[in-house]
Order: sequence, then C-alpha cells, then structure tokens
Amino acid sequence: MKPAVHLDPRGTTAARARHPWIFSGAIDRVVGGPEPGAEVDVHGADGTFLGRGLFNPHSQIRVRLHTAEDEPLDGAFFAARVRRAVALRGGLLGLDDRAGACRLVFSEGDELSGLTVDRYGDWLVVVLTGLGIAGRLEAILDVLQEVCEPRGILLRTEKGVGEEEGLVVRDGLLRGALPEEPVVIEEGECRFAVDLRIGQKTGFYLDQRVNRARVAGYAAGRTVADVCTYTGGFAVTAARAGATAAAAIDTSATALELAARNADLNGVTDRMDVAKADAFNWLDAQQEAGRTFDLIVVDPPRFARSRRGIEAALQGYQRLNRLALGCVSDGGLLATFSCSGRVSADEFQEAVRRAAEDAGRRVRILERLAQAPDHPVSTTCPQSAYLKGFLCAVD
Ligand code: SAH
Repeated sequence: MKPAVHLDPRGTTAARARHPWIFSGAIDRVVGGPEPGAEVDVHGADGTFLGRGLFNPHSQIRVRLHTAEDEPLDGAFFAARVRRAVALRGGLLGLDDRAGACRLVFSEGDELSGLTVDRYGDWLVVVLTGLGIAGRLEAILDVLQEVCEPRGILLRTEKGVGEEEGLVVRDGLLRGALPEEPVVIEEGECRFAVDLRIGQKTGFYLDQRVNRARVAGYAAGRTVADVCTYTGGFAVTAARAGATAAAAIDTSATALELAARNADLNGVTDRMDVAKADAFNWLDAQQEAGRTFDLIVVDPPRFARSRRGIEAALQGYQRLNRLALGCVSDGGLLATFSCSGRVSADEFQEAVRRAAEDAGRRVRILERLAQAPDHPVSTTCPQSAYLKGFLCAVD
C-alpha cells in the first residue's frame, strides 16, 4: 500500500489551508508503513487527496506538507524551490552584494520547511531543522553551489533538533573551504565581524538588519543602551549614526568579545561601552543609581519555546520592559522586541502596556517593526512572523 496519512477533521482544515505542519494529534491513521523521512500522500477526513509531505515518526510535526500537487518530493523538487528562494533575494530584494549578508532560504517563509540558509559574503551556512529535507541535502547543496558559487558551505545545528526531529547531524564543513574567522560583512555604513562556527544562530542576527538602521535613525545626539546586544549590532549602528554614548550589555562573553571588535572596526570605541551583565540586574542597577538613557533597545532571546511557555514568556517581557522603561529619560525612546513565534504581536503589545502601567510611564508606539524582508512571512504559517518590535516614545 502506498504510504499515506489520513487526517482528522481539525487536521483536514489546517491542511486545506496549506499549513505546512501536520501535528501527530491531527492524524487519524498512517498506512503503508512509511520510513522516517519518506514521502507520504495526505488525505482529508473525507478521503480526498490534499497533497504530499515528508513523514517523521520522531517529530511532533509528523508530516511537513510540501505540495498540494501529485508530484515527487525528490532532490529536484527541493532544488527548484531553493533556486526560487535565492532568486527573490537577488531580484526583488536586491541583496546580492557579495560584501553583505542575507538569509537566502527561510524555512516556511520559502516553502522549504526545515531548511535555513544564510549567506555571509562568500560563505553559506546551512541549518537543518527537518529530518525529511535533510535527506535531500545533496541536491540542495548542488543548486546552492551552482547559483551562489560560494567559497564554502558550512552546516550548523540548532539546539534540540536531535530530540525534536531524531535528526543527528554534526556541525562542520559540507563543501569547499572553511573561512578564516571571523568573516567581516558590511551592513549599511557598518562592518561586522561574524563567527560562523561558534556564533549564535548562524553567526549574526540578520533578521534585525532593517531595524538596526531604523532605530539608528533616532540615535544622533542621544545616549543609547543596547540590552542583549549580542555582538554589538544596535549599539554599533547607533554609535555610527551619531549617538553620544552607547552601552552594550550581554551575558555572553564570546559575543561581547566580538562586540568590542566591532566597535573597533567601526571606529566607535570612544563612544561604546561593552559590559557583561544580566539584562534584568543591569537595568535594575541603572535605575537604583538614577542613570537614564535617551534610547534603550531591548532584544532578548526567545522566551517561549513551546505553547505552554507563553504565559511565562509574557511575564518575562512585562518585567524586562518595566525595568527598561524605568531607565528611559523623559521624552526618550524604547525599541523593544520579541522573537518568540508563539507570542503574537497583540500579546506582546499588551505585555508592553502592562509594563508601562507598572513603570508609571506613558508609552506610544511610533513604529511597528518586524523581521527583515529576506525572512518572508508565509501567509499559510502565521508562526513564521516571529519577530515583532515596537519603537515607542516614552513620557
Ligand atoms: N540585538 C542583537 C541580537 C540579540 S540576540 C543583534 O542585533 O545582533 C539575544 C542576546 O541576548 C544574545 O546575545 C544572548 O547572549 C543575550 N542574553 C540572553 N540572556 C540574557 C540576559 N539574561 N541578559 C543579557 N543578555 C542576555
């Protein structure tokens, strides 16, 4: 019998709406004994054919639905999608400057659930979060090599993918040569040193590229605090744009080493202070000391990893933003972010409202911010709109 999954009514509705994730709980029965990573036909509760996906018995996402057509999900299928994703960056988005960096493939946002590819200058970094697509890697690498002509392609794994997907992969070089680290990329007027092998994510937070520039537009003549700075992204951009002083705070010593190096690369060491501290403690201490900043950026890591974690995440956002609001000077600005895909923009806005109430400040949103356009949002997968930010006036 041809391997297939038959969905329950809830799963049928989701698959009809082309959501790429079919959860184990939405499956009525599996027939034909598909192997991990195998192609399966997907049928609705009434037996109609809804499409085809890749099966993974280890994952909560039991099937990643890749097409509504009756077509093979082989290497050629994925290679064509990768080609289309890369063409978007070079075409409409104009992001093919080899001195810069961009996300070439954004998983669900490019109808390639389970695959992320970033380009840093002449190097590519691949991240696999799906078992099925990992089995088609060679064809994907072939097309990346052909279209992008990189000097090397590296593989990075995301924490937890072994348990979540049963996918065991080792970080390392897939094709070509290893770069001499760190790789220096250009972003607008700035240059950033990026460590592709041990940096967080694939090395740099490309999703914040546009927001770093937008926030820096308010920085001239102002004092800035960049809380959760990683390698100095917002602080360096703000300092280059004329901030009088920028404090860059993070808990990661390795990230801060690069932050200091990035300050140097951009000639702003005289205006940028790098400090290793916990965001909550540091903000608390600033308030105790009566120190204020004209512009505070708060860009913490993902607080909610699962649906159950949402409530705790919202409380975390509320507390962090209350502390930050306590340190914004009168008439100043707060740029606050959430990168939890499970937390909606409305929920995040409500957390900021509560924070304002707790802090006794008046907060108005001037700009609503999101992930950069090389991280496209899939209209069939709302969770792909993960980065939300508000640039607020604070009185
Ligand atoms: N704004 C950055 C990206 C920030 S990512 C950019 O534009 O590149 C989130 C950062 O928060 C990470 O660097 C992580 O090390 C840091 N972090 C995590 N927990 C923290 C804490 N409790 N206090 C301060 N920084 C923290």
